[in-house]
Amino acid sequence: MRNLLIYFAFIFVVTSCDNKKTTNNDPIDWETPFEKGNGNQTATYHEVISYYEKLANHYYSISIKEYGKTDSGLPLHLISYKSNIQSNKEPVKILVNNGIHPGESDGIDSSMMLLRDLANEKLSIEYPIELHVIAVYNVGGSLNRNTSSRTNQNGPESYGFRGNARNYDLNRDFIKTDTRNAVTFQEIYHTVNPDFFIDNHVSNGADYQYVLTHLITQHNRSTSNLANYIENSFRPELEQKLNEENWPITPYVSVWGTTPDKGFSQFLDEPRYSTGYTSLWNTVGLMVETHMLKPYKDRVEGTKVLMEKVLEIAQSRATEVKELRKDAFATLKAGDSYALTYKLDRTKNDSIEFLGYEGEYITSKVTGLEQLTYNRNKPFKKMVPYYNTYKGTDSIIIPSYYVILRAIGIS
Ligand SMILES: [Zn+2]
Repeated sequence: MRNLLIYFAFIFVVTSCDNKKTTNNDPIDWETPFEKGNGNQTATYHEVISYYEKLANHYYSISIKEYGKTDSGLPLHLISYKSNIQSNKEPVKILVNNGIHPGESDGIDSSMMLLRDLANEKLSIEYPIELHVIAVYNVGGSLNRNTSSRTNQNGPESYGFRGNARNYDLNRDFIKTDTRNAVTFQEIYHTVNPDFFIDNHVSNGADYQYVLTHLITQHNRSTSNLANYIENSFRPELEQKLNEENWPITPYVSVWGTTPDKGFSQFLDEPRYSTGYTSLWNTVGLMVETHMLKPYKDRVEGTKVLMEKVLEIAQSRATEVKELRKDAFATLKAGDSYALTYKLDRTKNDSIEFLGYEGEYITSKVTGLEQLTYNRNKPFKKMVPYYNTYKGTDSIIIPSYYVILRAIGIS
């Protein structure tokens, strides 16, 4: 009996150390700076990198790698989790981008918790996956920490600045590539070749009940089969999964000079934006836009749940999405017509359930003029029109090759 107990104890130790690089049993504090704080604080750039170094030093499933340079002179860090599942299936790959606008830091903190929970197997994974996370994309902006450049946002207490080290808005630079950040992003992107892509942000504008909004790749810019999957399968499945967890989500609320109850249109993410760029490579992409007026703690937790749900979908739909991507690459060939510019089709719309607040006009105490505000004591749930169809307005014939002259001035 005693031998049997020793045998089981040995098995337990071997199994529990399986994923760990060290047999040191000293307890390690795995709480992130966000978790240690008051719920309204985000990790600094150096805290983020040192946390991931500690994680990668401890777990076999996590690695950290430096890529290229950014305009700040510092490299990007890519943190990778690879599941330890024996399978002949090709892993499904997910790429996450954080801190492109460092004041919108929700994804930075939620990714640290997500990668930790994957490494220590608190989150179970059933299918071979690779999750690659750009820890902080806008390194220069992240180091330019302040407390006042996002005054209309409900936390965190201090955060990085929107512009990068040369004051570029990196979420307008993906196809243009004026910055070293974008050059390095492209190197990472082509190395990973993700099936799914997530870019984490915080929105501003109208008030409504949701903490989470999504800005999923505008589907009409994809080939028809992939477009059909994105709009009629991926979007409803993600929305349903989040609803079941009490994290209702709505498409990004894009309204100007009106209120969401009148309906709104899908954002056209052209290739200068992250998901506009990644859709050129037939990746299923979304920007997460948490709502700026909701508490920071809720936004970070919601972003983490959303990424977990995308991981679930990626696992269950891996084969289907890989086939759709392969099909899309084969569909667009030299000699085919390809739309470059798009216009919203106002003759078509979906009807979606929307959880809003009544909009009211009051007199501004500052200007004495009429000002739109939202009354949180008057929540509503109603169906609203959602315009999500775009038509190509100008197109090219895809050439066999492009000849690009050598760039001047970049070394
Ligand atoms: Zn943003």
